[in-house]
Amino acid sequence: MSRMAGEGEWPAIGIDLGTTYSCVAVWQHDRVEIIVNDQGNRTTPSYVAFTDKERLVGDAAKNQVARNPTNSVFDAKRLIGRRFSDSVVQSDIYLWPFKVIEGPTDKPMIVVTYKGEEKHFAAEEISSMVLKKMREIAESYLGTIVKNAVITVPAYFNDSQRKATKDAGSIAGLNVMRIINEPMAAAIAYGLNKTDIGGRNVLIFDLGGGTTDISLLTIDGDTFEVKAVAGDTHLGGEDFDNIMVKHFVEIFKRHHKEDISGNARALRRLRTACERAKRILSSASETTIEVDSLYNGIDFSSSITRAKFAELNMDLFKKSIELVEKCLTDAKMDKRGVHDVVLTGGSSRIPKVQQLLQDLFDGKQLNKSINPDEAVAYGAAVQAANLAGRGNEKVQRIVLMNVTPLSLGFEYAEGEMAVVIPRNTSIPTKKQMDCTNKYDNQTSAWIPIYEGERARAVDNNWLGQFELSPIPAAPRSTAKIKVYFEIDANGILNVSAMEETTGVSYKITITNYKNSLSTEDIHRMVLDAKKYEVEDDKHRKKVRAKEALENYAYKMRSIVNDKEIGGKLDAAGKEKIEAAIKQVIHWLDGIQHAEENEFEDKLIGLELICNPIIAKISRQP
Ligand code: AMP
Repeated sequence: MSRMAGEGEWPAIGIDLGTTYSCVAVWQHDRVEIIVNDQGNRTTPSYVAFTDKERLVGDAAKNQVARNPTNSVFDAKRLIGRRFSDSVVQSDIYLWPFKVIEGPTDKPMIVVTYKGEEKHFAAEEISSMVLKKMREIAESYLGTIVKNAVITVPAYFNDSQRKATKDAGSIAGLNVMRIINEPMAAAIAYGLNKTDIGGRNVLIFDLGGGTTDISLLTIDGDTFEVKAVAGDTHLGGEDFDNIMVKHFVEIFKRHHKEDISGNARALRRLRTACERAKRILSSASETTIEVDSLYNGIDFSSSITRAKFAELNMDLFKKSIELVEKCLTDAKMDKRGVHDVVLTGGSSRIPKVQQLLQDLFDGKQLNKSINPDEAVAYGAAVQAANLAGRGNEKVQRIVLMNVTPLSLGFEYAEGEMAVVIPRNTSIPTKKQMDCTNKYDNQTSAWIPIYEGERARAVDNNWLGQFELSPIPAAPRSTAKIKVYFEIDANGILNVSAMEETTGVSYKITITNYKNSLSTEDIHRMVLDAKKYEVEDDKHRKKVRAKEALENYAYKMRSIVNDKEIGGKLDAAGKEKIEAAIKQVIHWLDGIQHAEENEFEDKLIGLELICNPIIAKISRQP
């Protein structure tokens, strides 16, 4: 892993591009430094605002939100790499004060008024503005131009979301050296803070502004291996804020007989006050909410206790704990096997969340030594130094191992999912699978690619497909096609196939922006897979039985047609076999649905006819 840096690779920064806040760090003077922005803050709001005069990014944008809610954009991370029709986007639109419309190819576009004109921006563009701001913060601190960066994403980000994030980096003029998972970055920070780690199982509980990421890692020496991940890109601090906003909208209604839910500015101001109150409730047991002239000149004042806040959000808190349980189940690890539970993400400061997590681990002390807002950027900076060949020996020895969140494969034979890379495989990875032609004399082969856990390919998520052509005409099941699946260190998939005799090959990179999966889809698919496991198993057995029958029939046909072996058959025996094969193939061609045992019965029947006749000739000299 260790290598010398090219001159152009330094400086290299680590950026935690958060849903609500971003953070930038750099390796300097033999340690990581979190870079302070122009306002003296160690994190910068992931906000971009448009006014009739200027564009503002970071603190300046967030500070004017209440005055300019419809043109102040945040949460671009929730939109990036997603479709407009995605249920997450649709439910978020309701809560955002800014407008999002459907653009070409189902892409969400953010609509703002900038210098008096209507402008449309893709989420990548908004994120690129935040990244550029982070880059500028680093540049003014380091006094030099910065081009290289490692950017973090939630572990559950799919291919499309990762690519879109990388695109945002490119738009910001950055050379994105690597996209790494946020919990992995936190683990790096954690690993470096300890001196004598060795073979420890570490659970990273990352509860941020918009996302929850649970990862179970094994840290052995300087190697970090992800055993399993679970997450939800719609569970975090903003959801707690929204629940609090709804609560106070109701209180306002009760006290003042006015409904403020249609007023973007009032909602925004209330949300800002709620977020502040929420933070205070992490250290105080009660706080007040006060917003002057919230609606129709009415000053709003109310209070909330920590217990009430916890009660309002209990379902969401529990959901985050369930994700921890799911992650442990996926990793087939008992909770007693976890050595350390590490908290990261601003929302992991919430006392009730900490208590639920501690209860799950039977009262285990949680590790809070890393500043939850900075751990991810810290780890990203270490990774950036590693890639640029900088840092000390310890930094250089770090080897990251990541995993695939879903199985990847292609549609094969009777519509089965041939899994090439199983779920939770360490990446980067390259795997190969042999396949063959389905029909006699077929001259091209379609390779449709899917991700998911279902046995039938069509029940999974289609990623793309390609045609391998020409392939030499050959009898069924005789062509030799090799299919390669390769996932690079950024989690991006390349698929290629090659016909062995001619060397004809084809390769695609999956750039399926339009049909990319949402995390909810991933969760649904994993849950569906369990629910349908029985059904899938039945399907698999049926396909196997059908294949066995077909293979036997075709094998018999080729024996009969073979000059040497077939020539030894007497006319009556040959005729008997041919008639039986014809009947079976006719039956196979005509059936729509048949059960496993029907195929098995047909096979037994065919074997009873053919085997004695073939046995006779094989005994002949
Ligand atoms: P992150 O995305 O990790 O920066 O997390 C930001 C989220 O953490 C935001 O929703 C903040 O409101 C929330 N947050 C930050 N500090 C606290 C705190 N002390 N208590 C509760 N939530 C917090």
